[in-house]
Amino acid sequence: MTKIFNSSINRLLKGAGFFYTGINAGIIICIVMVASLCKPTIASAASLETAEPIKIVIDPGHGGENLGADHNGYLEKDMTMIVAESMRDELEKYEGIEVYMTRTSDVDMSLEERIDYADEVGADFFFCLHFNMSAEHDMYGAECWVSAFGECYARGMDFAKIEMRQLTDLGLYDRGIKTRLGSKGQNYYGVLRMGDLAGIPAVIIEHCHLDNYNDEPFYDAYDWPVRYGKLDATAVAMYYRLKSDELGVDYSDVEYDPTPVPVHVVRPDDSPPDKTSVVYGEPYQTEGGNWVDVELTASDPDSRMLYYSYSIDGGATWSERYRWQDDQGQLIGDSILTDTIHTAVPVSTDRDMYIIFKVYNLYNLDTVSDVYYLPKVVPDGDIYSEGSSAPHTSVGSGDTGDMEYTEIDRGEADSEPVVYDSVGNMSGLMLFGLIAILSLAIVLVLGILIYVIKYNRRRDNRRS
Ligand SMILES: [Zn+2]
Repeated sequence: MTKIFNSSINRLLKGAGFFYTGINAGIIICIVMVASLCKPTIASAASLETAEPIKIVIDPGHGGENLGADHNGYLEKDMTMIVAESMRDELEKYEGIEVYMTRTSDVDMSLEERIDYADEVGADFFFCLHFNMSAEHDMYGAECWVSAFGECYARGMDFAKIEMRQLTDLGLYDRGIKTRLGSKGQNYYGVLRMGDLAGIPAVIIEHCHLDNYNDEPFYDAYDWPVRYGKLDATAVAMYYRLKSDELGVDYSDVEYDPTPVPVHVVRPDDSPPDKTSVVYGEPYQTEGGNWVDVELTASDPDSRMLYYSYSIDGGATWSERYRWQDDQGQLIGDSILTDTIHTAVPVSTDRDMYIIFKVYNLYNLDTVSDVYYLPKVVPDGDIYSEGSSAPHTSVGSGDTGDMEYTEIDRGEADSEPVVYDSVGNMSGLMLFGLIAILSLAIVLVLGILIYVIKYNRRRDNRRS
């Protein structure tokens, strides 16, 4: 559409000939004069139609004594350097951009030194490259951190949305674009706090977690850091609408709605999800075991859900964290007030279960559901169904077509969970008991009969 529109305008202008050239030049000079009078502190991507090259600073996180994440031989400070070099090399193939790096060797730098350097070179944007790790090794996915204030927030969001789309297109889980505040109400992260003071928008990119099997496919190959560097460079090129003859790409048509500059501080969510409710159906059997389908609903007015986990022993132990993913896929940087997902949990054949769910919002705050009682499942050939061997592998892949959900009574969704009907098994038990009692009675009667007959025979023998 845009292309057709542009070409029509071009044809019209060409038709008008050189007559308008003088007038156009005059208008442009006026615009430049006015623009230079009210020069904004931070140029937004949309207004970068100047001859001045865009100056960006790439910051490979950590270095020297400061190792960063360190897990199974993967060292963050080394990986961020490979990403940074790859990002620089790729970006230098674009026109109209100058690329700087805070460090090019394995040295320890303070956060202040990094931002001071960006300020010295007159950086338009600061990209801080990192990899993640969690204390319990239970988290996974990619995330971006941006300033919570004004123009730096808006420009940070604009870039981070493009960056997150690139990362999640790879298959990485979307942990969102977030702000974080320190105790004094300032940005928690130093580069964002000092970037604000210097008037340089900054984004911290946490590419993936180096300590969780979910992310392992996204860092275990030798060339991953190089790929991340190219991906980050592409996001920058899209954000600034750059083009590269060398690469044969032109992002000048990339469209996005600039994030409005917030008047107030953009606070992180500091409260856990409000409510969690669970509805479950009838247990069923697949090759992978016995399962029960679950409908899990959570609500939070401040941020969307991120993970869920469950306990089948009343909260003593918890499952790993699973993706909170609805049928429509994920929303990037937006919040969902109330959300429902469908999943399945394994059920036990040798003991009753007390199921509890835990839902985590984008800011890692969790809420625990009520306890739901599920009697143990007596294996029954009739409920065997041909299905995927493990329902969890289907969750989140978008391939839920293979899953066989049993009907959940929607009418009861807001009140009581549908409890597995155990009456059938109880009558089986009663029948078993009856047969046992009858057998015992028969054995007893037979025994008495035999004893009486033998006793009579012995008495007869004595008499004879
Ligand atoms: Zn780091």
